[in-house]
Amino acid sequence: MSRKYLFQKKYIAFFSVIPLLLITGLVQVECPVCEGSGYVSGAPGMENVVIIKTEGTQRYVNRDMNMCGMYVMYLYDVVLSVVNKGDEDTWGYAKLTLVDLKQGKAIDSQYVILEVPAATSLDVSYTVWFRSEEDTRLLRDEVHGDIVTDEVPDVTCDGKGRLALNSWFVANGLKDTFIELGRQQVQYTPPVEFDPGSEQWLP
Ligand SMILES: [Zn+2]
Repeated sequence: MSRKYLFQKKYIAFFSVIPLLLITGLVQVECPVCEGSGYVSGAPGMENVVIIKTEGTQRYVNRDMNMCGMYVMYLYDVVLSVVNKGDEDTWGYAKLTLVDLKQGKAIDSQYVILEVPAATSLDVSYTVWFRSEEDTRLLRDEVHGDIVTDEVPDVTCDGKGRLALNSWFVANGLKDTFIELGRQQVQYTPPVEFDPGSEQWLP
């Protein structure tokens, strides 16, 4: 093989790989998770999922974003203690809201994916950024968790319905990975039903 030919080969490789990377970053394709609508519906079975406890711990505040009057970012570790009382596995979304208890107002909400197997209670950990347009010193803060049963913006494409082609490959395999993060599983034991007729409740 001549040197000239080798050089040409490298040259061709370079000038085809780089544009390919650029193009896949620029080309927008339909999001595989929401199929382009930007929204996903709360899945069946989510009505059986109950949040028992939400614990939010502030880890970091980024005030540098505020230089051009933009916003402040608050990073939280959130642990949701949930239980699926139904007899089918389900997945859907939970809405996490950062609340300033001192001012009595919601700062921001984020949606997270939640998957709970049938008859199971779980602690699921998330790392979530909340955003505020004003620089609020959170002296008494709390994170609220709600199960979403209606339509929510898709977290994969940020509600846009479209993704850059290079993210598509990740997004297509993302759902399961996302859900596997930080999960601790224990078997859910249903509470003993109170039966007024039963002798064990009599004095
Ligand atoms: Zn989407």
